Order: sequence, then structure tokens, then C-alpha cells
Amino acid sequence: MSAQLLSFTDRGIYCAEGGFYIDPWRPVDRALITHGHSDHARWGHGHYLCTHQALPVIRHRLGQITAEGIGYGETRQIGGVEVSFHPAGHVPGSAQIRVARGGEVWVVSGDYKVEDDGLSEPFVPVPCHTFISECTFGLPLFRWQPQAVVAAQLAAWWQANAAEGRASILAAYGLGKAQRLMTMLPEAGPILTHGAVEETTRILRDQGYRLPPTIRVTAGIDAKSHPGALIIAPPSALGTPWARRFGPASAAFASGWMALRGIRRRRGFGTGFVISDHADWPGLNTAIHATGAERVFVTHGYTTPFRRWLEEQGYEAGIVQTEFGGDEAETASEADLA
Ligand SMILES: [Zn+2]
Ligand SMILES: [Zn+2]
Repeated sequence: MSAQLLSFTDRGIYCAEGGFYIDPWRPVDRALITHGHSDHARWGHGHYLCTHQALPVIRHRLGQITAEGIGYGETRQIGGVEVSFHPAGHVPGSAQIRVARGGEVWVVSGDYKVEDDGLSEPFVPVPCHTFISECTFGLPLFRWQPQAVVAAQLAAWWQANAAEGRASILAAYGLGKAQRLMTMLPEAGPILTHGAVEETTRILRDQGYRLPPTIRVTAGIDAKSHPGALIIAPPSALGTPWARRFGPASAAFASGWMALRGIRRRRGFGTGFVISDHADWPGLNTAIHATGAERVFVTHGYTTPFRRWLEEQGYEAGIVQTEFGGDEAETASEADLA
């Protein structure tokens, strides 16, 4: 019997027969990348392969790299294995990576969500024997509302703030979440963006993703020029002089972690919108079931309880130690769950 198709090393998930790693966290010769978030697409590899859709942002973030794009569903022979990329529904361009040898199929999910957000290429279940799944929100308490419900909450919040003469500052990660929120907001006025958000937005818009018009915040843009505006900024911009230019403002964070009251309170967000680009508990279970896999390895998140749960459901289950965790993939502490 030949070696396991994918193995777990201190550099990342490795395919010996193909001579490549998937989302490695230390420099390697050949890297297959699921998506552009910084914990998955890291600097220093000899050669990158990702979807055509993910490539522009990855190039923008990493600068001079040797990289190649591949279409969704296109198959490529690499060494002794066949490789293909399939939509993960996480952010624009994100993929699950399928690796096959003979009749044996493994799929690495990367980060994923099953709800169609109207912007990212929607998640497609890929049949496999072994599925390596993220489980950032792998506890039953994480259950997302449909996107339309959160959209209505956002609209009401913005309207109420504007009526009281306050700006609305929405904190969100710059790749994926920020653009998803833009598409959910009513066309009630211009959306202002922090430079870090605008960069990614511009790249995605140039690629043909349908995004509403945005205005980058520059000198001269403030509460006077744009009263009652909605501003999308990275979480790090809150509480800084940059944010104070808008005068009295209401700040909110849009993240799956906002489901935990403790986190919301400690980070000083009066308002939190519970919306995530990761699968919730039902989403994880649906996705795993749909693969038909008999063996599941879980990565970042609540790996221990989630593995136990999978074993109780009759799966052969294991935990893979990775160094992913950056967009939303931090694990909350016990106190947050109380
Ligand atoms: Zn991600
Ligand atoms: Zn991740």
C-alpha cells in the first residue's frame, strides 16, 4: 500500500506524490492556495497555484510571486495525482481543493460557507472519501440568520443613526466580508471606505464582481461633507484619529463572533451584526454529509468537540494541527462562551 495521499507536516498539508503543499504556513517550493486571506496565502513560496479569481488579490498582497491561475473544475495532473479547484463560497475566488489518485479522492475545504452570499462563487459539495474541513464555528450554538435578515438589521441601524445625525462605522475584514456587506446595504447613499477596504474592493470590481460604488476616505471627507454616512473600515481603524473625523458615530462589528455577547462587550461594540463567511453548525454538518466522506479531519476552530461529535455520527475523525486563523478564525475563550 502506498503512502497516504495527503499528510500533515509542520509546513502544512502535503501531497508527496504531487510534490506540493496546500496553504502551507512555511516557505515551500510549490503551494496550492485555497484563497487570499493572509493565513492561507503566505509569502515566500517558490510557485503558487490558485483560481484565476483569487489571483489578483493574492498578487496585490504578496507582490512579486511566481503564480498561476486555474479555472474552477479544470483538472490538472501534478506528479502522480490529479488536482482541481471547486467553489468554497467563502470569499470571491475561494476554493476547495480536490486531490485524486486512482479511485481515491481527498478534498481540502479551506474556509467555506454554504449560504450563497450573492457575491462569492457558491459552495459546491465535492464527493470524496476523505474530507479535511475547517470548523471555526463548530459548536451547536453557532447558527446564522439568513443574509436577508441581517441586511434588514444593517439598513435599520444605518437609518436610525443617520436620523440622529450620527455616522455609522462598520468594522469588517477587508477581503470578502467588506464587499459582501456592501452588496447587502440599501442604496441609501454613498458607502465610504477605508483605504485598506477600498484597495481590495477596486481589484474585485475590476475583475467584474458586481459591487456598488464606493468613495475612499481621503483628506476633506468627513462628517460635514458626508453627514450620516456609512463607512466600512477594518476593525483596527476604530478608535483611531482616522475614525474620529466623522464626529459622533456608532460603531459596529460584523462577524460570526458577535454571536458571543462576552466578545462584543469586551471589545466595546454596542452593536454587533452576526454574519460570517464561515459555515455555522448546520452548515458544517450539511457540507460534510454532502461529500459522502467516511473520514473527516478537522482544522481550525472547535476541533476537539467537533471531532467527538463526528465520531458519534459514525465518521472516522481526526484533528489536524494547522496555523490557520486570521480572518475570523480565532477561537473564543471559555469565558466568551459563558
Ligand atoms: Zn479565510
Ligand atoms: Zn482560515
